[in-house]
Amino acid sequence: MRLVLLGPPGSGKGTQAARLKEYLQVPHISTGDLLRAEVAAGTPLGVQAKEIMARGDFVSDEILLGMLEDRFARPDTANGFILDGYPRNLVQADALGVLLERIRQPMDFAVQLEVPTDLLVERIAGRAKAEGRDDDSPDVVRNRLDKYTSQTAPVIEYYRQHGQLTVVDGVGSLDEVFSRLIEALAPAKEVG
Ligand code: AMP
Repeated sequence: MRLVLLGPPGSGKGTQAARLKEYLQVPHISTGDLLRAEVAAGTPLGVQAKEIMARGDFVSDEILLGMLEDRFARPDTANGFILDGYPRNLVQADALGVLLERIRQPMDFAVQLEVPTDLLVERIAGRAKAEGRDDDSPDVVRNRLDKYTSQTAPVIEYYRQHGQLTVVDGVGSLDEVFSRLIEALAPAKEVG
């Protein structure tokens, strides 16, 4: 199963992706996690990305694509993947299409987790307390949500127009949303 998970910050993408990974037995590739690992390791890329991420801005498309190419080169992606946090703009959506075509791994689904904005703000505030992410402060959250609306929402339209989009209601408990996701993915899971 080759899956792209789309949804705004706070939509529960990361949490659901972690569960789906167990269910589908494919790796969860989170570009945010990959970047945070670079930051934690203090690599040159991490040093470059740190401040950009702390502002809630996007790290460059070139860096993201390079990171993703490296990640897809690892053998655990042979049976599929759950991609979380990418693509975040139309340039990245095109780049992903080209990359997946090249490695002959066309995506099965782009799934949008749909959550109303007021609930997002609430959830992120809760997460800020629990995890202490430095990009969860109110100003930065606003910037991340604005970026989502202006740059990532068009990606959803792009997949909709290509007939690849599945929309899943992201409001409810983790279990409820997970059940909806599994239901939405069921036809493709049969095929493998
Ligand atoms: P996330 O954990 O997906 O919310 O990502 C955390 C931060 O990493 C984002 O706010 C961006 O600064 C950066 N980031 C993650 N994925 C991307 C991407 N596809 N393009 C640009 N920046 C990204």
